[in-house]
Amino acid sequence: MESTSHERYDVVVVGGGNAGFSAAHAAAERGRRVLLLERGTREMSGGNSYYTAGATRIPHGGLDDLRDLVEPDERHAATVVPPYSSDEYLADLVKVTEGRTDPEMARVLVDEAADAIRWLHGLGLRYRLMYERQAYARPDGTHLFWGGLHVGNVGGGVGLVDDHTAVAARLGTEVRYGARGTSLITEDGAVTGVRYTTHDGGEREVRADSVVLAAGGFESSPELRERHLGPGWANAKVRGTPYNTGDMLLAALDVGARKGGDWSSCHSVQWDAEAEHNESNRELTNRLTRQSYPLGIIVNREGERFLDEGADFRNYTYAKYGREILAQPGSVAWQVFDASLRPALRTEEYDMPGIGVHTADTLEALADQAGIARDAFVATVERFNESIDREAPYDPTVKDGRAAATTPPKSNWAAPIETAPFYAYPVTCGITFTFGGVKGDLDGRVLGADGAPIPGLLACGEMLGGLFSGNYPGGSGLAAGMVFGRRAGAVA
Ligand SMILES: Cc1cc2nc3c(=O)[nH]c(=O)nc-3n(C[C@H](O)[C@H](O)[C@H](O)COP(=O)(O)OP(=O)(O)OC[C@H]3O[C@@H](n4cnc5c(N)ncnc54)[C@H](O)[C@@H]3O)c2cc1C
Repeated sequence: MESTSHERYDVVVVGGGNAGFSAAHAAAERGRRVLLLERGTREMSGGNSYYTAGATRIPHGGLDDLRDLVEPDERHAATVVPPYSSDEYLADLVKVTEGRTDPEMARVLVDEAADAIRWLHGLGLRYRLMYERQAYARPDGTHLFWGGLHVGNVGGGVGLVDDHTAVAARLGTEVRYGARGTSLITEDGAVTGVRYTTHDGGEREVRADSVVLAAGGFESSPELRERHLGPGWANAKVRGTPYNTGDMLLAALDVGARKGGDWSSCHSVQWDAEAEHNESNRELTNRLTRQSYPLGIIVNREGERFLDEGADFRNYTYAKYGREILAQPGSVAWQVFDASLRPALRTEEYDMPGIGVHTADTLEALADQAGIARDAFVATVERFNESIDREAPYDPTVKDGRAAATTPPKSNWAAPIETAPFYAYPVTCGITFTFGGVKGDLDGRVLGADGAPIPGLLACGEMLGGLFSGNYPGGSGLAAGMVFGRRAGAVA
């Protein structure tokens, strides 16, 4: 091995996504000499963070409280942003994880997210209100935000990574691209460095006082998915970076790190089943997702509904419905809408180039075209239409309680599928990220088998397990990365 063991930094961060950059900034601000190793080339860098919409869940007191953070917009004057308290944020985490969120980590996240985003904003990251994804335009011309998730990066995930990269350069952090961490160097039980390979196959070492692991989960490894998430998960489509194959999770376990969080569940969504290149697509990023399902119904190949499309606002159900699709015959399903619902579908997703869609003037023809069992499908739609409480007002900006009393029920936003033409969008399971990581303390110090921190080793972002299980409130992945990345960088 070519030895470059003379190379030494105060802090080495492994992984250049939102969490890794946040840790690097916090360490560099304290005058630490920081090296960030990123597996992707510059063009392929940014991890899952690059693929995001930049949506970041923070508590706030309404629009006036956000004015210092978000870019000016002429729509602000006619906009209502309901306040979202840290207690509501905590309650959402507890609700969607069914009580399995680590209570101490969750408390830190909700208490520090607002401050952490202002810290990043102060460093140069830019934010805006996410009108196109998180607000409904009302008939009187005003905009009403919903679902506790209101703020996002200017330029989405691409803007987020560009801004982070510029801040890192300004703070003097060296970013080394094409550098894949392979294992950790230890001396007397302490982590003292990282071994990594370069893009041309060279093997290197770098030493540091602290190593911060921010190399994501194992969502991009079909083998690890199948092993930890269960049979069938190898078939899921990867929504984000192809590089989060769990290298550094395995490296941390090798030096005695404890597992943290839920290794058997993940974030996964409904994803275009038929579009070409529907895996890890850097151009279309999250436009391949299909998130307007609360307005319509979802059926499987047998023509049956199998979940409550209107159980809650999309932000609280979308991350667990991917696995429901994976479990259907052929791991495929169809989101069905009629002509009256079609205009309300998210433009960026349902009008995307090369979209998989079937359109027909009758339900029978739609089923034949899509390959859905025709008679069962028509019967399902008829039963659904008949079971709707049509007296109740329909309002997608609130949980309107307009239910379809069928099996399974649709608890809100039930609208009949009756006006031609009809639309069926084929969806499969797209995996976003895994929830299992290493176990850390609240500053991200990685804990060993005896429960004590492994000296020199920290983790943040997807790699730090504990916050999420089974489901996740939209926008809390980026929030967790900045809060716990900042904390790790502050002690590294
Ligand atoms: C399509 C999509 C949309 C999303 N939308 C949102 C959203 O709007 N809001 C939200 O909060 N969350 C969203 N998420 C989830 C969000 O991306 C993650 O929660 C968050 O980005 C995780 O940040 P991270 O820094 O931990 O990981 P990442 O951003 O994935 O960064 C990990 C980095 O580690 C690098 N790496 C991996 N292995 C190695 C190695 N061996 N050596 C060196 N480097 C390595 C990778 O190349 C990568 O750059 C979305 C995810 C996807 C895929």
